[in-house]
This record gives sequence, structure tokens and C-alpha cells, in this order.
Amino acid sequence: MACAAARGDQPPDSSLAAPRAKIGAVLSDLAGLADLHMHSTASDGMLEPAQLLERGALAGLRAMSITDHDTVAVHLRGDLPATGMEIVPGIELSCDTEWGELHLLGYHLDIHRGPFLERLEALRQNRLKRLDRMIDRLSAVGVKLDAAFVDDLRGRPGSIGRPHVARELIRSGAVANFREAFERYLGRDGSAYIPHHNGLSPTDAVRLVADAGGVSSAAHPAKLIEEAPETFFDELRRAGMAGLETQHPSHSANQVKNCRRLAVKLGLVETGGSDFHADADVDPGGRHSGVGCMTVGYAVVARLRDLAGGGVACGRRAS
Ligand SMILES: [Zn+2]
Ligand SMILES: [Zn+2]
Repeated sequence: MACAAARGDQPPDSSLAAPRAKIGAVLSDLAGLADLHMHSTASDGMLEPAQLLERGALAGLRAMSITDHDTVAVHLRGDLPATGMEIVPGIELSCDTEWGELHLLGYHLDIHRGPFLERLEALRQNRLKRLDRMIDRLSAVGVKLDAAFVDDLRGRPGSIGRPHVARELIRSGAVANFREAFERYLGRDGSAYIPHHNGLSPTDAVRLVADAGGVSSAAHPAKLIEEAPETFFDELRRAGMAGLETQHPSHSANQVKNCRRLAVKLGLVETGGSDFHADADVDPGGRHSGVGCMTVGYAVVARLRDLAGGGVACGRRAS
């Protein structure tokens, strides 16, 4: 197809060349995709950090964030292989709310800043106590966990969670799959469910991330949006939360629409990621997907970086 200049319609306007080049440079600066939610063996994921990076590189990602539950062990190690991808230091914090759990993603963290690491150690200790209570409840309903498994789990350096117990229940034959483990025992309506009760309120979590120079986004919020009043999310925004994870494998098309509506209304950045834990043969059920299978544009990474650490004064919508 002939362009306007070749047809001789108008001489090219040289005064536009510089702005166009600038816009082109900005666009290519923001090109590419990012997967901003996944778990490694430092929490309840089945792959080592280096294997996650390998998957991300294979998927052609420009950036990714390993967001383990209540731990930044991966980002503390400092031995992630160079792949050319940008690795955004991240975490996923768990908080109880009266409408169910809130998971809060933190990005662009400066993990050595403030009391961040001490607070995470307290959360780890809380998870150990929660495990003990879960084991007692399971035992009360006739399910005994293998003692060697429990010892091993307690000695793990990262954080422990219900998926570890679910995998053991499957291995021992107590349940057939993840879905059954959560429905019968470990989920909110299961007979061995124990809330976190970790003393971390949702606004505390938002502030903890901000104090570590980071920026937060509510993870897979669709169910909570259905249960909790809008004022709950608005309060988090006022505390400094900048994002809402609208793109998540567990969200139906309708739920994505609801999440996006709220994000627009509250002026929150739409984030997203695969929430990868394990390959589908180990982790079926559709709540998570493969690394790089749920992504957002790299512009989201850049926007979150702009917003990180400064609280409301740093450019977020005023209350
Ligand atoms: Zn989560
Ligand atoms: Zn997650």
C-alpha cells in the first residue's frame, strides 16, 4: 500500500519528525509483556526460582515477579541467573478480613528497608503455629499426617502453607486431589480450616509494603469484590494501595469485568499474572496457570515503579 508521501499528496512535515521519534521511543520503551504473580519452592510452588526464570524466558517475557507467600527468600539470595528479563522484587501477603482472606501483592520492594524482614519472620512463626493447629484439627477428624513429613515441613526455610498439606493428603491417599483437600479439610468451609490470625490487617499490609519502598495490588480480588463493600477497597486505596489484579486465571469473564470497573472507578492500576504454582498434572483446577500464560503489558511494571514507595503523595489519586 502506498503511503501519502509516495503518492505526492503532501510533503512530509519535518517539524513532526522529532515528536514522532520521541513517541516511538516511549512506545518501544514500554513494549513487551510481564507476568507479575508466581510462586517458587520458597513458598508453596513446585519449581526452583531458576526454573521459573527459564520458563519466563521461554515465554518471551520482558519482566516477571516471583511473589512468594509472606517471604522474599528468593530475592534475598541474590543468585538468580541473568536472563535479560527484569525481575521485579515481589511478595504476596495474606490478611484476614471479615469477608474472607485478602492476598496483597507487593512490588518493587527494597527488602532491606525498614522493619520489613523482621515482620516477615513474625509471619513465618505464625504460619508454623497455624500448621500445628491444622494438624490438630485434621487429627480430630481422623486424618493423621506422616510425622516425617511434618518435621520436614517445619524445618523448611521459606514459608509453609495449605498447599503443602494438601499435597501430603493426596500422597497419603486421604483425598483424591487438590479440590477435595480444600473442600473437605483446608478451605474456608473445610473441617480443618484455620484462619491466618497473623495480626496483619489489610491496611497494615499496604503500609508494610510502602514502608519497604514498594507498591501494592490486591491479588485475585474477584470473590472479595463480590463479598466486601466497595468502601473496603477504597480504604485500602486511601492507605496507599495502587493496584488491583484484574487479570488472574481464577477470574471468569464477568469477574474480570467487575474488577476492571472497580479499578477504573478507584483509579487503580490493573495488574495481572499466572499465579503459577506447579504444572497442571500436579496442580489442576484452573485457579492457576503456566508461567507467561497470564500477562499484562510492560507499561504496568513501569507505572508501578513510578508509584512505588511514595504513598498517596507520589501521584496516586488524592483521597
Ligand atoms: Zn493468593
Ligand atoms: Zn499467589
